[in-house]
Amino acid sequence: MAEKILIVDDEKSMQELIELRFRREIRKGEYEFRFAQNGMQALQILEEEPEIGILLCDINMPEMNGLLLLEKIKALHHLYKVIMVTAYGNMGNIRSAMNGGAFDFLTKPIDFSDLKLTVGKALKELHRQQEGEDALRQLPITELALEETDQKARQLEELDRMKSRFFTNISHEFRTPLTVIKGMIDQLQANPTKWLEKGSQMIKRNTHQLLDLVNQVLDLRKLEAGQLRPRLIQADIIFFLRYLLESFHSLAEMKEIELKFSASSPEIQMDYDPEKMLRIISNLLSNAIKFTPEGGRVSLLVREFESSQVESRNPRTHELTNYLTISVSDTGIGIPKENIPNIFDRFYQVDDSAIREGEGTGIGLSLTQELVRLLGGSIHVESEPGKGSTFHLQFPITKTAQLQENPTFTETIDNFVMPVGTANPSPQKLHSEENLPRLLIIEDSSDVVEYLISCLEEQYELLIARNGQEGIDMALEHIPDLIVSDVMMPQKDGFEVCQTLKLDDKTSHIPIVLLTAKADYESRITGLKRGADAYLAKPFEQEELLIRLQKLLELRQRLQARYSSGETPPPSDDPATRQEDEFIARLRQAVESHLDDSTFGTLELCQHIGLSRSQLYYKLKALTGRSIAIYIRFVRLQKAREMLNATSHTISEIAYLTGFNDPNYFSRVFSKEFGMAPGALRG
Ligand code: ADP
Repeated sequence: MAEKILIVDDEKSMQELIELRFRREIRKGEYEFRFAQNGMQALQILEEEPEIGILLCDINMPEMNGLLLLEKIKALHHLYKVIMVTAYGNMGNIRSAMNGGAFDFLTKPIDFSDLKLTVGKALKELHRQQEGEDALRQLPITELALEETDQKARQLEELDRMKSRFFTNISHEFRTPLTVIKGMIDQLQANPTKWLEKGSQMIKRNTHQLLDLVNQVLDLRKLEAGQLRPRLIQADIIFFLRYLLESFHSLAEMKEIELKFSASSPEIQMDYDPEKMLRIISNLLSNAIKFTPEGGRVSLLVREFESSQVESRNPRTHELTNYLTISVSDTGIGIPKENIPNIFDRFYQVDDSAIREGEGTGIGLSLTQELVRLLGGSIHVESEPGKGSTFHLQFPITKTAQLQENPTFTETIDNFVMPVGTANPSPQKLHSEENLPRLLIIEDSSDVVEYLISCLEEQYELLIARNGQEGIDMALEHIPDLIVSDVMMPQKDGFEVCQTLKLDDKTSHIPIVLLTAKADYESRITGLKRGADAYLAKPFEQEELLIRLQKLLELRQRLQARYSSGETPPPSDDPATRQEDEFIARLRQAVESHLDDSTFGTLELCQHIGLSRSQLYYKLKALTGRSIAIYIRFVRLQKAREMLNATSHTISEIAYLTGFNDPNYFSRVFSKEFGMAPGALRG
């Protein structure tokens, strides 16, 4: 193929000259020439004939001189080889041209053999560069690719980091159910009749938990690989959601959480993917229950909206559609504003402190969000710390999938939703007013902790501290009913824990069992002002531990009897009991000194005594079996009874004098407390 060369010169003779000098090459088909008499023409020809690679260009031309043209040509494509032609001696122009990217230069009058050589040289260079560029284009690593690779490497690194964190979390998540399963199998072998029912339930529950974890990991993997597709059926979604919520009842009941369901219509027929919807809603519900303290409420709200009410388009067809909103609300701990943007991130946990170590993997919400997106929906959260959270979901309503009259998802749901055990007590649970007594384990060896958990989790609600200091902190914060502590521990040993807690008003009443290795601990015990309530030598039998703990709880009940009459109890020989007597006396004193002040309530008493509400609540509950408000009322009523017996005030007067604003109410609670109306005492 002929090489195309463009000659740009305002001298018309130039064309003749070139055609004459190159006639042989032209005839042979080696070269083809194009001619332009000014810059504009040149640019036009270049545009029309992109095969042109070589230009011969005069510098001195009217309108657009050669230098300006060179600039424009170079801007068009960097491969053009431009040979500049100028008058001999015009070195300034030549330098400018060379600096502007000209390939070479010739002087007038043109020496044609030199021109031929120069053109040949330019062609060679052009071809060399063209081949280089072609090769570069085929090479996978261009500069851009390099940058992309770099970015990919960074992303992979980040993913790797997250994955390894995830694996740490998830192995922890695996260990606990496995320990329970293993421990229970031991128990079953040792005592089949006793453990058959309970043991197999626990094994089932924990196996289920493992299975669920595995499924979550698999789902995540499939999502990543883009293998998870919606599998829609058309059915009544209200029935599905109601059934799903129902299956959370036993889990909610364990925490005394009320579940509420509300829907804008009794039935909504639409396409949905039961399996994915199950996972989405279950994740949100179990989080809501997990992060809501006792006595709270979790609700599921379903609404259908017409497309006209809010602009809503089906993401697939872009048509206007009706849509479904599902809101999962709780009255729980809420999420701090600054954490909201992160909670849908994989592996993110708002509170990754030690207490909640091993609980949750932080993949629940990211999986939820990805599944919601897969189904063409959206999710967002509103939350206020201390008040609660609401997760809002929105899905387009379509009705194109196969109609299913009696969808058989109930079994799937039943298998999926299982109450989770207390093997990993959440901090929320710890604040609970549970029926089970709350026991704090202070132990640094996780194997022993796990053994203790398997021994105790059925009878007690458990709190775990990993060293002596953490144990003291948790005891002061949560005021448990019982403490089982190891002796040998880093930071603070069991004796120090005992000493500290027994000296503190908030925790002095809590029975402590020290787990000791058989070494000579007796010398140390004798040195203690107030030791533990029981000592148990390692290795101990489960039965032995359970009996000890039971006995200590019974002792506490005797203490409750001591304070329940409201009379000042007879002085005790036991210094421990005397300490509690003093505490109760202080409380009584505080209430009695504000007897006619009806505004003196829980908060005021806490302030007066210098304990937090929950500290006083648990301490008082342990000593008297009464809550703070009920205890205050009890002291008031007792004073009222004394006055009824000893003074001539009217019943109404006595009601006011003891802090009751409403004499009718006073009479009612008085009757309830003492089994007789106040009037009965007056005869
Ligand atoms: P995890 O397995 O840790 O529960 P998730 O992805 O399900 O992981 O949740 C991430 C974090 O978001 C949780 O650890 C928790 O801190 C916070 N969170 C999720 N749901 C709620 C809720 N209803 N109330 C308060 N915090 C929540």
